[in-house]
Amino acid sequence: MSLVKKLVRQEILDLSAYPVPDASGMIKLDAMENPYTWPAIAKESWADLLKDLPLNRYPSASADQVKDALKESMGVKSDYDVLLGNGSDEIIQLLAMALAKPGATILAPEPGFVMYKMIATFCGLNYVGVPLTDDFELNEAAMLAAIEESKPELIFLAQPNNPTGNLWDETVVEKVIEAAPGLVVMDEAYTAFTDADHLDLLEKYDHVLVMRTLSKVGLAGLRLGLIIGRNEWLAELDKIRLPYNINMLTQASALFALENFDMLVMQTEQLRVDRLLLMKDLAAIDGVTVFPSEANFVLIRTPNGLARTWFEALKEKGILIKCLDGGHPLLNHCLRITVGTTEQNERLVAALNEIAVA
Ligand code: PMP
Repeated sequence: MSLVKKLVRQEILDLSAYPVPDASGMIKLDAMENPYTWPAIAKESWADLLKDLPLNRYPSASADQVKDALKESMGVKSDYDVLLGNGSDEIIQLLAMALAKPGATILAPEPGFVMYKMIATFCGLNYVGVPLTDDFELNEAAMLAAIEESKPELIFLAQPNNPTGNLWDETVVEKVIEAAPGLVVMDEAYTAFTDADHLDLLEKYDHVLVMRTLSKVGLAGLRLGLIIGRNEWLAELDKIRLPYNINMLTQASALFALENFDMLVMQTEQLRVDRLLLMKDLAAIDGVTVFPSEANFVLIRTPNGLARTWFEALKEKGILIKCLDGGHPLLNHCLRITVGTTEQNERLVAALNEIAVA
């Protein structure tokens, strides 16, 4: 047995790394990025700001200015704390590390964001995935039974959910929260694309935190996520956060972007309008089912057996989306398409129309 195989934990040996396909030169509609960039004048002011940063120094360790700006632009009350992560992925990892007592469990509805399970594995926690119903609602009975049985230390509820795009019945969400013996994290990565939010749950329950990210509103390259809630929880997470986890370029750029938040809001508004058009155009393709979406992506079900063929055919035509077929039984024949620019969406729809009749 090689030393690697001998030393590395079996569950890590069994993993494959999070797949990131090469998208060079393609219309990229696979990763829920905002397709719009900034006007030249904004880019210039941003570059001016960056050029004078003292890169020889460590960044602010607390990043207080960024936190305050985030609170203000996201309407978070000043008495709640905010903790920042290198993307919300890092925050998921901090949560898992903090709660990883021997035998501890993370529970999440499935299909859901794959990093919940991966990070549970990285950090040595058990993971319980509870299937949604066929129409991607929370399965109340199954969730309550799984909570009763596994007594999870941590539950993730993504609203809107990735990859299904929908919001769940709020009364069931609250029943799950009330049944939870541990911490419940409302993952609001897609909050910019829906009118619903869960900040009010912070008032109601002291075992709920709300997690967000700047990735989907146009700043995926910065890697900045945040979690909002009671200091009691966040102070513990802060102890295991690596010092200076938010680098100086990210802090300065985030501050700049938040000062110009209207620009990003305009872009997300456009994406919300285009989402409706895209859903209508996709629904008009023979045999396609379009699921309701409150996020910046749309989940569709292709006619039987065609998801991979359509995915590959789109790739041939220079358009990258996400094929979910085979990822989870509820996602058979499904594709996930990120809402792009108006023009990109039109090109995608034209390409799919050609592929569907071929
Ligand atoms: N939560 C959900 C539900 C997501 O879909 C994603 C990204 N796909 C994330 C968290 C992570 O986002 P980031 O690390 O870019 O902040």
